[in-house]
Amino acid sequence: MGAKQHTHIEEKIYGTIFNIQQFSIHDGPGMRTTMFVKGCPLHCPWCSNPESIDPFIQIKIHPEKCRGCEACLKVCEPKALLHDEKKRINLEYDKCNHCMACHSVCQYGAITVIGLKISVEDAVAQLLKDKDFYNNTGGGVTISGGEPLMQHRFVSAVFKNLQKIGIHTALDTCGYAPFNILEEVVEHVNLVLFDVKHLDPEKHRNTVGVKNDLILENLRKLSDKKVEIWLRVPFIPGFNDDFELANGIIALGREVGATRVYFLPFHRWGEHKYPLLGLKNTYEGYREFLPEEAKNWKEKYIDQSDLVIFGQG
Ligand code: SF4
Ligand code: SF4
Repeated sequence: MGAKQHTHIEEKIYGTIFNIQQFSIHDGPGMRTTMFVKGCPLHCPWCSNPESIDPFIQIKIHPEKCRGCEACLKVCEPKALLHDEKKRINLEYDKCNHCMACHSVCQYGAITVIGLKISVEDAVAQLLKDKDFYNNTGGGVTISGGEPLMQHRFVSAVFKNLQKIGIHTALDTCGYAPFNILEEVVEHVNLVLFDVKHLDPEKHRNTVGVKNDLILENLRKLSDKKVEIWLRVPFIPGFNDDFELANGIIALGREVGATRVYFLPFHRWGEHKYPLLGLKNTYEGYREFLPEEAKNWKEKYIDQSDLVIFGQG
């Protein structure tokens, strides 16, 4: 009897994403494709992508399409779905176990799915569709979320494959992960878009759910790596629109060798998504900057325009 044959099967790595956005001009230099992954360890009340928070593939309801047939109510074991007085569908997010049974039985398109399980190979193939645009504009691929470091093996493998063929890669991160994970991903990254939300640990924790010590420590450690850093500050009236704080963040940017510090004014673009996901609208209590306020902030830092940018630039 011959020796037993061992076949080497290479492990396939998958990620869970919720969008691939082509022709993006705000997530790094040039024309880019941004891939958004699911799952985030923070809970920022101003999040414009609430579909990114949950790491699982989930459902989204479209009450305007609901015909009131009740098929979904019958298959939903945890009773997460209910009808309002007009017999339109509603979702209680906390009760949903992501079984997708309701999606399978709705014949009217009133329940859709957010999220897709995708292999590294398929993700890379999709991200290379606009390769010519990247080459012509100095662009590339950005991975955002959610928090890409929550799917670090997948993200790292995608970046590695892209860099191998000369594509510029950017990681958009909140920085909340063990440093060895950040380090592993950054090995295949040209640019890190690093979010800084507040320098005060308690204010940070009370608003987004975690202290900022690990985040700031990671940022400082990152400055020793050969990777470009842009700081990005979600700029929220009443939370961090403070002159001293803004100066502190800019000083931190200079300390870590960041080449840009973006202050990105809060907008309400994502607000309509919350009820469709069965989530509480966390925008309540937050407002957008008035045009005059936004203008004043821009003017305050005009002499530091080598580094500081208010708005998307
Ligand atoms: S996905 Fe959620 S809402 Fe739909 S049937 Fe399953 S538990 Fe119910
Ligand atoms: S199955 Fe679709 S149309 Fe029927 S009640 Fe549920 S959401 Fe509405």
